[in-house]
Amino acid sequence: MTSAEPPFPNLYRSRLVSENDLRSCVVCFKFTTTVMLADNKADFFYVCAGHLKDTNFCDPIHSDEYLGWIRERDRLYKRISELKRKMDDEAWNKYLPTKWIGKSRAKDEDKNKHKADDDDDDDEKKTDEVMMKKMNKELETVLDKISGYSSKDFKLNKDVYRMRLQRYHNQKVQAKRQQEIQSDPGFFPQVPTNKLGDRE
Ligand SMILES: [Zn+2]
Repeated sequence: MTSAEPPFPNLYRSRLVSENDLRSCVVCFKFTTTVMLADNKADFFYVCAGHLKDTNFCDPIHSDEYLGWIRERDRLYKRISELKRKMDDEAWNKYLPTKWIGKSRAKDEDKNKHKADDDDDDDEKKTDEVMMKKMNKELETVLDKISGYSSKDFKLNKDVYRMRLQRYHNQKVQAKRQQEIQSDPGFFPQVPTNKLGDRE
C-alpha cells in the first residue's frame, strides 16, 4: 500500500440520537443529540445542529431533489416577472390616450374591428391572470419545500476534516502503544517471586 487513502471520506451524514445518548459538542461542549457520522462509519462526533449552518465548519451537500426545487423556483421567478411586465405594458397601453399612440388608429379603423380587438384583449388578459395565479401558487409550493428542507449530508471545512483525521491517527497510535505495553512482559517491573515475609 503506497497511497495514503484517508481512513474515512470527507462526507458526513447528520443523525439525531435520543436524549439519553446526548454528549457534548466538539465545538462548544454543550450537550447535543446531533451526531455526524462519516460515510464509511469510521468516524463520528457530536455537534450542535447550529454549527452545521456555519460554513466555517461545514458545507451542506444538497440532494438532487433540492437542487431541482431551486431550478424550478428560479424558472418561476423569471416567468412571473416576464408575464407581469407584459400585463403592465398592456394595461398601460389600454389607458394610454389614443392621441399618444397615434391619431390614425381611431380614425382609420372601423368600430367593429375595435370591438373585436377589445374582446381579444380581455380574453388575453383573463388568460394571463389565470396563468399568473397558477404560477404564483406553484411558486408558493416550491418555496415551502425549500424552506422546509434541511440537508443531512455535509462536507467538513478542510481544517475541521484534518483535525478529525489527526485525531483518528492519534487514537490508532495510542491503541497500538497500549497493545505493545500489554503484550510486553518486560515492560512492567516484575512482582518479586520471593515475597517479603516469605519464609522457608
Ligand atoms: Zn456546539
